[in-house]
This record gives sequence, structure tokens and C-alpha cells, in this order.
Amino acid sequence: MIKKLIFFFVIIGCLKPNEYTEQVNQAEQVISLQSWDDFIENRQGNIPLMIIAVHGGSLDPDWIKTRTCDEATIVKDSYTKEVALKIESQLKIYGYNPYIVLNDLHRKKLDLNRSLNKSNCGDSTTKPYWNLFHEQVYNYRTEIQNKFGSGLVIDIHGQSHEEQRIELGYLLSSSELKMDNSTINSSSFKNESSVRSLLNKNLGELKLTDLLSGEFSIGSLLSQKGYASVPSKEVIAPKEGELYFSGGYNTAIYGSRNSGSVDAIQIELNMNGVRNTDQNRSVFSKNFAEVIISYLKTYYKNDL
Ligand SMILES: [Zn+2]
Repeated sequence: MIKKLIFFFVIIGCLKPNEYTEQVNQAEQVISLQSWDDFIENRQGNIPLMIIAVHGGSLDPDWIKTRTCDEATIVKDSYTKEVALKIESQLKIYGYNPYIVLNDLHRKKLDLNRSLNKSNCGDSTTKPYWNLFHEQVYNYRTEIQNKFGSGLVIDIHGQSHEEQRIELGYLLSSSELKMDNSTINSSSFKNESSVRSLLNKNLGELKLTDLLSGEFSIGSLLSQKGYASVPSKEVIAPKEGELYFSGGYNTAIYGSRNSGSVDAIQIELNMNGVRNTDQNRSVFSKNFAEVIISYLKTYYKNDL
């Protein structure tokens, strides 16, 4: 409602009186058609897993300015929303409903993997939507914590780096992943990671290197299904000069680095063989659903 009023006064404030009635009518038509709820898709789940996708949205209404500031990345992560929906459908076939929060607004209008201040190039039009989206994720995360004791957030993105492989982000940099096992398994690395809670819960039995590149790491499970991934048993770290995303705002905020017992992993999907055709997206989503169920059973809920 606040958004609607702001929009209304911005429109009428710029007009000559004789243009007033016609323009007001047009503005009323636009605002009656769209509300922030139209840009978010969310569903409650019945397992300790939340899937979010923020850069796959397509809607780019004229009444929200396109972001043009220097630091703004405005490219969409193609087909990531579709992949998220396919993973959800596949999980439902197996009887599991993940918590879902998906964004339909194009990244050129708002970046939901940034803090509020960095999301909008100084234009506060989208502030109510940033709040709505993040409140929804926050509320589901709290619900997962209360209902299941612990859980996992998967933030799905798409990367266009040269190496065609899936990049998994645990908030550890490329150079940190290259270090020796005893350094990676030190408490400072654990405390820096987005899976801190899971490691604390299994102190002494589970090491950070197990989650990054062990037999039952997501990277190794995906590799076994034919999807090259880093980190994994096969590729422990990116080589010198290779680009790698280690996890952004959502992984930091909704994982357990700062607080709570819900962990987070950023999943950056490559294009070839994963996102590039509808068939590949379907096959990948089925495989990913199987991997994530097995992961949840191993680390979060044995009786899933
Ligand atoms: Zn992205």
C-alpha cells in the first residue's frame, strides 16, 4: 500500500494540471495491476530444506528504475528459477515439500543477494519488496529451526565462468580451499563457514573437509551423478586464475556463520549440460533432488 501511494504522488507531482486526470487514471490502472506480492513466490515446506533463487526473475516494470550505478551487476541468472521449480516438483514426487522463496523481479531492478543499501543503487522504490522477500526467508528459516532443530538453505545461482562445473559456496575463498586439511579444519575456518552449526553439532566426528570434499559432500555426490563440482573429492579447489564464487549475502545471512542452527550453501550452476536445455534442466533437477535428500538424511534428519 505504501508503495502504491508513493508511486501515485510521484506521478501526479510531475504533471501540468491539464494532464492530471488522464495520467492519474493511467497510474491507477498500473498500481491496481501490480503489488509487491506479484514478484515473490513462496511456499511452506515439510522438510528442513529451503530453496531460494533471487537472480532468475524476468519481470521488469517501467515504474521501477533500472539500476545503473557502477557496482551494479544486472545480468540475470538464466533458468535458475525454472531449475528451482523443477527441483521442488521432483522432491514433491518423492513426498517432500521444501520451503520455497523465489524472486520474479529482474536483477536489473533489484539485487536480492545484497544488503538493502547495496541492492538498489540508492533508489528506495524497491525497499518494501527487499523487506518482504527477506522477511519471508527469515520467517521460514526461523520456522525450520523451531520445527526441526536444524536445517539447510540452498541459494541457487547461475555462473558463466569458463570452467563448466558447479561452484558450491561455503563462504571460504579459493585460496582458503587450497590450504592443507589441518588448517581448513581449524576452528577459525569453521567459524567463518556457512555450515558452522552442523560442524558444532557433530564436534569431533565431522570435519569441515568432510563437508567440502569428503565422500558425502554435496560436491562429491553431484560429481558421482556426472556433474563436475568444486569443491568436491575430484576438484578440491579452483586452480590459480580460475574464477570461483564462494557465497554471497544470502549464504552469509541465512547460514550459521553468525547465528542459529540453519546452514546455507550457495549453488552456482554452470550452463552446459545443466541449464542450457529444458531436458538438461529436468535431468539435473532430478539428480539434484536425489543428492539433496541423501544429504539431508546423512546430516540433518536421519528419519526423513
Ligand atoms: Zn546470481
